[in-house]
Formats: sequence, structure tokens, C-alpha cells
Amino acid sequence: MDWLIRCSSLAGCYDIRYQYRLAMWDSIWINTHLATLREGRYGVVRRAALAAEGGRIAWVGARADLPHEPEQLAREVHDCEGRWITPGLIDCHTHLVHGGNLAHDFDLRSQGASEEEIVRSGGGILATVRDTRNASEMELIRSASARLKRLMDEGVTTVEIKSGYGLDTRNEMKLLRIARLLGESDAVTVNTTFFGAPTPPPEYEGRSDDYVQFVCDEMLPEVAAAGLADAVDADCGRATQQQARRMLQAAKALGLPVRLHADLDSDSGGAALAASLGALSADGLAYASDAGIEAMAAAGTVAVLLPGTHFFTRSQRTPPVAGLRRHRVRMALATDCNPASSPSTSILLMLNLACTLFRLTPEEALAGVTCHAAQALGPGANCGSLEAGKDADLAIWEIDDPAELAYAMGANPCVGVVKRGVPVHRAI
Ligand code: FE
Repeated sequence: MDWLIRCSSLAGCYDIRYQYRLAMWDSIWINTHLATLREGRYGVVRRAALAAEGGRIAWVGARADLPHEPEQLAREVHDCEGRWITPGLIDCHTHLVHGGNLAHDFDLRSQGASEEEIVRSGGGILATVRDTRNASEMELIRSASARLKRLMDEGVTTVEIKSGYGLDTRNEMKLLRIARLLGESDAVTVNTTFFGAPTPPPEYEGRSDDYVQFVCDEMLPEVAAAGLADAVDADCGRATQQQARRMLQAAKALGLPVRLHADLDSDSGGAALAASLGALSADGLAYASDAGIEAMAAAGTVAVLLPGTHFFTRSQRTPPVAGLRRHRVRMALATDCNPASSPSTSILLMLNLACTLFRLTPEEALAGVTCHAAQALGPGANCGSLEAGKDADLAIWEIDDPAELAYAMGANPCVGVVKRGVPVHRAI
């Protein structure tokens, strides 16, 4: 074995054997139980050890199978004292960077105001567009950083962030630049998505086709040329299917992978459209048809479920989980963090809501924020499971069973986060 160098020399009648054991790993975590989340299952390894080298996972297995004592194998030994390790969590669908909030709308709605009355009073999504455009970059960075920190406190090590509240080239690029800036942290990976939002800005009021053309002809090429987007998203249902298709085809022509908000309020053929375009994911899916789901299965498109949105909007329609299971479509979960329909920065709450409202199992829910969420981000996301070669992104938990992560409402048992092999948060 290359980590063990044996030097032998014979001198006269003496046989002198020197052994130098070299620490071959940067770090090792011991006295832990692992939920590896390989292939969507818990993949529990009790009394385990996990080693990292060069930011990647180098070894995973039972402590008893280590070839030598941990101190001989790694330069740093972390004793987890019986705590659990899962992959660092992934929030694969957020609108994290935006100005203001819509708490006033929430208040008015609670007093019986209709959506029309809320818009007439200056609220609604265009209020967020206004607040986002008016906010300085520093203000946006500050508010988005606070949201990101709350996610990271719950063990999140990878976040997707969409633009979509700027609605002109300068402001959309401002949002994507801020998302990229947030990703310069050593503690989190940020995956950026240009979102061709379905509500045109005031300057395009009543001219949604013209706005889509502007997105395709001007915004997308500039965003792509600046390297600011890892993917492009649209909304099939709130925008027409034809508009969503145009934006995603324009993105694909620029070499960008695509995703799609699909069938959130009605069956708009979004699931099938996402599949036909080879989308990484179709998100929402409350009204997705069985044929659409079948097409997603054939295309390998991940279903991203958004239980926070369902809860906050008091939707009566749950996504077709039975059909997704039957067709073996991978299910991811995300906060959809946004001011209008899911003002949440709790990924753990999403696990609970997915189980209570959508009837996912805790194992499916955890897979939804780890291995399946990684697949929704595309092949570049080298995370989401504990296996050799993956990024050593870890979350450490004060739990006795991984089902507790979905079970305990409002609890945060995260006691440590490791990003690419380096403890970054409340490390033990
Ligand atoms: Fe969304």
C-alpha cells in the first residue's frame, strides 16, 4: 500500500526494519454514524469513519475496517462523539437575492384583502421588482447573505440562486453578479440560474411576447457572454408554453442547461416541455399530468418539489408523488425562498412539510435535499452523497436517527458543517 513505506536493510547478522507510516489523508472523522445517501437511500453505516483529502472524500466505511489507527492515517482527527454525518444539504431552487419583502401583503391578505386589492395598494411581485431595482448592490448583498447564512446554519453547503426580479439587463446581471459573489465564500457553493420571469416589467406591460423576445435576443446573450449563469429557467403556466419554450431554446442555443417552473397552477404541459428540452429539472409540478411525468422519467428530468410554496399559499393541490414514484422520477426538495410565495430559509422545515403535506418518507425527503438535489443541478455538482471522489461537504447532526431531520419541526440539530474537507461552521 502506498501509504506504508517499508525500508529494510541487512547489516551483518542484524535485520533492521524501519517502518514509516505516512498520514495520507488531511482529515478523518471518527466515532460517527453515516447516512451516505447513495442512490437515494439512507445508506446507514454505524460506528463509521470518513476521511477527506484535497477537499474530496477519500474513504468511507466502518471504523473497524480502517487499515490503521486514525492518527496514523490522517493529519487531523475529528471525534464526532456519536453524532451523525450526512452529505452537506443542497437547496436546489431559491430566489434568494431580492430587495424588500412582502410582509405587508401577507398582513393585508390575512385581513381578507384580495390579490387585486393587494396589487392596487402597491404590493405584489412588481413591488419586489421595484424594491430590487432600487436597492444598492450592498443592500442586496447584505439581505441575501443573511438568508444564505440561515440556510448554512442548517447544514446547507450548496445553494442555487435564480435572478428574476430585475427584469432588465442591468438589474438581472446585478442579481447574478451578487449570486456569484456569495459563492466566492469558502463555506458554500452557489449555482446561478437566469430566470426568465413570467411577469413582464412595467415598461413591457401588456407586451409579454415583446418582453420574451427581448430576453431571448438581448438579455440571454449578455448573461451568457459574461458567464454569469450556470443554467436558465422559465415558468410554463404563468408564462405561456410557447414563451417558456422560446426562452429555454434560446438558452440551449447558447449552450446553457435549462430548468423549468412547471405546472404550478394548472396543467400547462410544463412537465412534458421540460422533458422534451432535456431539462435538468421541472419544479413545482402540482398539476403535472401522468404523461408529463412519464416523459420526465424517460428524459431523466428531476422533479423539484416545493412544499414551502404549497404551505404558504395554502394550496389544496399536492404534486403527484405516487406517479413520480411509479415512474421512478427522482424527487428533490427546495425552499423556493422568495418573498411572494415561500419566504423561508429553512431547508429542514421543507423536509417536514414534504413528509406531512406530500407524504414523502423521511428517507425520500433527505434524498431530496442531497443526492437528488445534486442531480437537479447537473453533472457539475460533485456533491450530495458520501462516497469517495465526491466533494467532502458534510453536515454533522446531534441526532439518534436520520428520520429526526424530517420529524422535528422547527429544530436545528446541526452542530457542524464541513466544506470541501474544511470545518467551516460550529465545527466539533
Ligand atoms: Fe421558484
